[in-house]
This record gives sequence, C-alpha cells and structure tokens, in this order.
Amino acid sequence: MTAGLTSIKRLVQVDQKPIGRTPRSNLATYTGLFDSVRKLYAATDQARAQGYDAGQFSFNVAKGRCPTCEGEGFVSVELLFMPSVYAPCPTCHGARYNPQTLAITWQGLNIAQVLQLTVDEAVTVFAEQAGIRRSLDVLRDIGLGYLRLGQPATELSGGEAQRIKLATELQRNQRGATLYVLDEPTTGLHPGMSIG
Ligand SMILES: [Zn+2]
Repeated sequence: MTAGLTSIKRLVQVDQKPIGRTPRSNLATYTGLFDSVRKLYAATDQARAQGYDAGQFSFNVAKGRCPTCEGEGFVSVELLFMPSVYAPCPTCHGARYNPQTLAITWQGLNIAQVLQLTVDEAVTVFAEQAGIRRSLDVLRDIGLGYLRLGQPATELSGGEAQRIKLATELQRNQRGATLYVLDEPTTGLHPGMSIG
C-alpha cells in the first residue's frame, strides 16, 4: 500500500473554501475556460469587423459590459429602514453586457447565452473546440455537468467549489504522480447528485 507513495511527486490539498466571494467569479472564469470562449468570440468575422478584442466579451471590462450594473447583472436597491436587496438590472435584464456585445454571436449564441449553458450543454456546443472541450470534459467527469458556466461563486456549495478546484488542477496538471487530498469529498453537493 505505502510502496506506491514513493512515486508521488506532488501532493495537492483540495479544500471546500469558496472559489470567489463575489458573483464576478464563476465556474467559467475560475477554470480559465472563459478566456478561450472570449477569444473564440473575438475571432468571429462579426467581432473583427467591429474591432472587438477578447476584452469586449468580459463583464469585468468597461467597453463590453452593461454600464448600468457594470457587468454584475443586478443592481442594489436601497429600501428605507430595510436591508438593501438585489434586483435584476433594468438595462440589461441580467445579461451583464451592452447591446453591441450581445449582437455578436457564435453558432447562434451570444456571450450571455453561453454563460447560461450547463456544462453538459456546453460539451455539445463546443464539441469541436479542443481546448474548451477538455476543460468541460473534466468538469463533467467529476460530476458537475448540471452547473451553469456562469453560476456565481457565491451560489456554489463547498462540495461544488472543491470539485471545481479539483477539475482545474486536473486540467492543468498532465504530469501525473500527484496525490490529491480532499476533505469530506461528498458533503454539500447538489441534492440531485447525492445519491447515484
Ligand atoms: Zn446591466
């Protein structure tokens, strides 16, 4: 049993801490696959004709995002004598981008619609895009096919955050001989995932 341990070159501890503390961090941004998606959009004829680069398709960059909510998709509403609440942005209705950015489509989908796809749906949409597909396959194999690409970090359970970290590790590290240590790998999963 312990004999195999001598060949371990790396030990990675994967915990259940959140992948981010704001809705600006999500599955697609954390794993890095959104960078590849944004480049894909920037490479379309439509985007090139407008002079758009990959930054145009980031909700963290001013030029392409909705100016009202600054790419959050929702706005804080102040109520007298009450804690402020969040409401969908009245300008973009949650899409997070400005109309010029949303006009650019790839295979019939705009960038906001891509963020609404589940991992399982995205595997089909990006089937021919090897780099993006690789990230998606790892996420699906690890049991996260039901998550939306744009699912905010703040909505993820500890178990989901842990799996996203593990998937990110697995897609980056192809060298092998790594031992992954997970604390309580089955807690906090989506209810639909708890019983196989
Ligand atoms: Zn908005």
